[in-house]
Amino acid sequence: MARGNAVKGTRLGYVSLGETEHGEPTPKVSVTYWCQNGHGVARNFASDAQEDVPSEWDCPHCGFPAGRDRENPPVPSRVEPFKTHIAYVKERRSESQGQELLDEALRNLRARRGQQES
Ligand SMILES: [Zn+2]
Repeated sequence: MARGNAVKGTRLGYVSLGETEHGEPTPKVSVTYWCQNGHGVARNFASDAQEDVPSEWDCPHCGFPAGRDRENPPVPSRVEPFKTHIAYVKERRSESQGQELLDEALRNLRARRGQQES
């Protein structure tokens, strides 16, 4: 009985002297992620959790994926195909062609509206 109490007391003493009294005993590593637009995002991770440090991080500025290699940022794979298509169309068509298409679209729209209203 006396023995049991002694062991218990030692354990409690050990716990009270634990690392929590010193705040954060675990050293941190700062990892910077770089996105394709040159944004740097610094993140802190516990140094003993290196395996948990993700290789990519979403850039909070533009939403692009950011990687740890500044020279080779990850290529965004989640870019909406719609945006790419618009950029492609803009590159392909001259301004006048674009204006023609716009006019035609407007004419069609007005014609359709006219039909619906009449
Ligand atoms: Zn960014």
